[in-house]
Amino acid sequence: MQCFHCGGEVRETTHTPKGYRVDYYLLHTGRTEWTFLKDPKEDAPLLQYLRLTQPIDIISCTDCYANPQIKKRLEKDFSGSGSILDEEEMKGSEKNLAP
Ligand SMILES: [Zn+2]
Repeated sequence: MQCFHCGGEVRETTHTPKGYRVDYYLLHTGRTEWTFLKDPKEDAPLLQYLRLTQPIDIISCTDCYANPQIKKRLEKDFSGSGSILDEEEMKGSEKNLAP
């Protein structure tokens, strides 16, 4: 498994008799799209909700999770105010230009 942000390898959470050691944080997110749902009641406004079209798990290593900028983006995605995937795609297309 690789960290979504730095590409570093992360290990599975290790369980010990005294507890466990976490090596990564998992954000369950994905591609979403706005969907409208018509309320059967008359004159009711259309219900709008975000439908998950492509679930994606974002793995963050402990180092990246400790990074305030990354943590902020994870929280933004989690709260639904911005998708971390869109930002990563922009970064990814830049990377593709390099050999
Ligand atoms: Zn990382």
